Amino acid sequence: MTRKTLIQNVHLFEREGLYDVQLGSGLIEKIVPFGGMKDSDQQMRCIDGEEGFLSAGFVDLHMHLEKTHTIGDNEYPGLLDAIMGFRQYVEEHISVEDVERRIEKTLDTLICHGTTSLRTHISVDETLGTMPTEVMLRIKEKYRDKLDIQIIAMLSALTFSDEAYAYFDKSGTMGIDGFGSAPSVCDEPKKIIDKMFDLAEKHGKFVDIHADEHDQPNVETIDYFADQIIARGMVGRCSAGHLCALSAVDEQKAEETIGKILASEMHVITLPSCNLYLMGRDDKGTIRRGTTRVKQLYQAGVNISLASDNIRDPFRPFGNGDMLEETLLTAQVAQMGTYSDLRSVYRMATMNPAKAMGMEKYGTVEGAPADLVLLEAPSAEEAILSQSNKRYVFKRGRIVCENRRSTKMIEED
Ligand SMILES: [Zn+2]
Repeated sequence: MTRKTLIQNVHLFEREGLYDVQLGSGLIEKIVPFGGMKDSDQQMRCIDGEEGFLSAGFVDLHMHLEKTHTIGDNEYPGLLDAIMGFRQYVEEHISVEDVERRIEKTLDTLICHGTTSLRTHISVDETLGTMPTEVMLRIKEKYRDKLDIQIIAMLSALTFSDEAYAYFDKSGTMGIDGFGSAPSVCDEPKKIIDKMFDLAEKHGKFVDIHADEHDQPNVETIDYFADQIIARGMVGRCSAGHLCALSAVDEQKAEETIGKILASEMHVITLPSCNLYLMGRDDKGTIRRGTTRVKQLYQAGVNISLASDNIRDPFRPFGNGDMLEETLLTAQVAQMGTYSDLRSVYRMATMNPAKAMGMEKYGTVEGAPADLVLLEAPSAEEAILSQSNKRYVFKRGRIVCENRRSTKMIEED
């Protein structure tokens, strides 16, 4: 049995003062004002929080783990080039051992950056079949004490084929959580969406798509997706990432589409770091940012999250699996700079994605999972601004990582 832990002297999200937090049975058992709980139990592990910020663990809602660490010296200037770049990697290098090694390398990094739950899209097509999905399912089991992982089987073909669809169907029997694809880069977007919902109904899964990942003022994919969520009786269960094109339409159309997103209770994921790199590639002079209407969606009441997307692959040669890094970038790209804005961005990396993953109670409240990060900062906004050290990472109350960072000023004679 895991022993109880008492973390003393910490700040909590949007609460004045300092607190002591007791963890036990994988949950946050008790929260009292600092000094209100004595360590009477000798078996209890005590941690002095040193007035740091005890945060909910980060939840990375959109990643591509089978693609991670595949970048070399080639440049892929745009989304389609990146798709072809990864295909080339598959033809020349991919193997079970290679997929395993790269995924575990990224997971070990992101755990130490404070991610305690994630959702990953894993490619399914004629060439790969379900091999990467099988590898990911094994790794999910191996890492179950460190991370909660949801797996989306992603139909990665640009053209619909019966052979790829058969693998897609098969993946539904293997223990995945949902179906996905990128309909707006496929030749028959509505057919792909229909087929995903057919399989979701057949296998009892949800749908999470890449939507309108382009710069043109055309949001047909997201509109149709929202309509289908309602028509298929899946309100509140489905997600969509990117929505770049929502920034390209006029205000009236944007409001109409946001209305549909709200009606379908769609969970939206913005992926600014990848969009900044891949979008606007045909622009000369002023280059568009390619990101969706982050602040407008948040203020409208949409459950919007931010996530890493690709990490060091043809789609984005950057990234550390560090959600604190992604919050700072999102805040700047979305022009959300006040303390209140920064707390909203912090929610997009913690409570909002947890809700999309189906976690009903999440955050630093009694009864929530003890998935936590002790940050060396007094608040969420200061942690984002200073990119603070993540001193301890806890998964279900157990320490899974300790980071030490030591800095001191020196005055030489
Ligand atoms: Zn993606």
